[in-house]
Amino acid sequence: MSIRTRFAPSPTGYMHIGNLRTALWAYLIARKDSEGSFILRIEDTDQNRLVDGATDIIYQTLAQCGLRHDEGPDIGGDYGPYVQSERVKQGIYMHYAKQLIASGGAHYCFCDEEMINAQREVQEARGESFKYDDPCRQLTIRQAEERIANGEKFVIRQTIPADGTTSFVDEVFGPITVDNETLDEQILIKSDGFPTYNFANVIDDHMMRITDVVRGMEYLSSTPKYTLMYKAFGWPEPRYIHCPPVMKDEHSKLSKRNGDASFQDLVAKGYLPEAILNYIAMLGWSPEENREIFTLDELVQAFNVRHIGQSGAIFDPIKLKSINGIWLRNMDLDTYYALIKPYIDEAVHGDFDKKAIAALVQQRAETLIEIPGMLDFFDVFPAYDPTLYRNKKMKTDEAIAKRSLQASREVLQTVSDWSEENLRSVLMALPEKLAYKNGQVLFPLRLAISGKQFTPGGAIEIAHILGKEETLRRLQLSLAMLEK
Ligand code: GLU
Repeated sequence: MSIRTRFAPSPTGYMHIGNLRTALWAYLIARKDSEGSFILRIEDTDQNRLVDGATDIIYQTLAQCGLRHDEGPDIGGDYGPYVQSERVKQGIYMHYAKQLIASGGAHYCFCDEEMINAQREVQEARGESFKYDDPCRQLTIRQAEERIANGEKFVIRQTIPADGTTSFVDEVFGPITVDNETLDEQILIKSDGFPTYNFANVIDDHMMRITDVVRGMEYLSSTPKYTLMYKAFGWPEPRYIHCPPVMKDEHSKLSKRNGDASFQDLVAKGYLPEAILNYIAMLGWSPEENREIFTLDELVQAFNVRHIGQSGAIFDPIKLKSINGIWLRNMDLDTYYALIKPYIDEAVHGDFDKKAIAALVQQRAETLIEIPGMLDFFDVFPAYDPTLYRNKKMKTDEAIAKRSLQASREVLQTVSDWSEENLRSVLMALPEKLAYKNGQVLFPLRLAISGKQFTPGGAIEIAHILGKEETLRRLQLSLAMLEK
């Protein structure tokens, strides 16, 4: 049987990093099987939490990441509809809820909230975890249906056997057995007729022929209840792959609500979708070989459920940044230039070779949004503090700078071929002539023509892009400052 996995997001209006990681793993598991399918299902049964445009963000994110789905609301498929609210309209959940009631796996409940809360208070005061003891369990189906016919409001609850145990196997956490008496009789159909997640996931995963359920670990403790439902229906259970959480630090989960970045936020901050995927794939999973950079296709090859860990993985923004930098450096220059042109245009308006600027930045920038700030010195030669010439590492001070800049000016004035190669050969002859180290010539020159201690690229590349006239003008101004 070929593998079928699904990504089942609730449309919240943003793509949480933890959810995207779950989607990615589900995708990888499906693609690892050449016949496998990756299905998108929209879980919008919490009608109070609907957000306009939220499903578009889901489509957009999947498309940006290259996580192509084989079936889903936008492209159809044999097991639709793929939006839960549409499935509600078709009466699918009610149909199966009644079937479950008939088989003894669920029952109608007419209790009002107040009564349930009163029980909750008593139990919690005793320090017990809440478990609703539902008197409606005693009603016959006939009795319940009469009350419904009389217009009474109801919910449908799962019926849990009073004793015994329930077991299932999780691919990450291993075999798990719980005492049935610890399981609460959760609501399956709410009074508005909508199913809860706890019911809909079982029905949909079965109807959509999902073989591997990949989801967050927060669902692990409810899974025995799903196992009981599969048993009551007589349906085969899927394989379960519960994913360890993505953490902000040792204590708290990464969450949009706490202000942590969503996928959209990261893209807006200048991260590449490919790099984000590459990084988050490894949050809780480690490849067999000691390697860090993977394309999506390479991840498909390398991914293996057996190497998913059980403990939460901490999201490290510095690591993400460095992986993003590697992705940027690995691009060929034309692609890179096309990508970052808008960021160069934002900072550089003068008549400079922008592709050459791109080549400079490519070696240095780890995110796209830092690019304009690196390039501000092209249009405007900034005022700077001459004490910057005092640099221990470069073994320079103002006196050394003055002497080396005078020598640089002298040779540069005579250069007619302003190519990078020629500039290099002319300038690289100076250290020997002056009995200086390379840095004692190149560092002052870079500072003298950029006005900045840190720049993308070195003195030679920058001089080349600035051109002869502008380079000499800036050199002149800097020398005048030092000679004062
Ligand atoms: N709608 C659920 C969520 O967004 C899906 C959980 C699952 O994958 O089953 O958390």
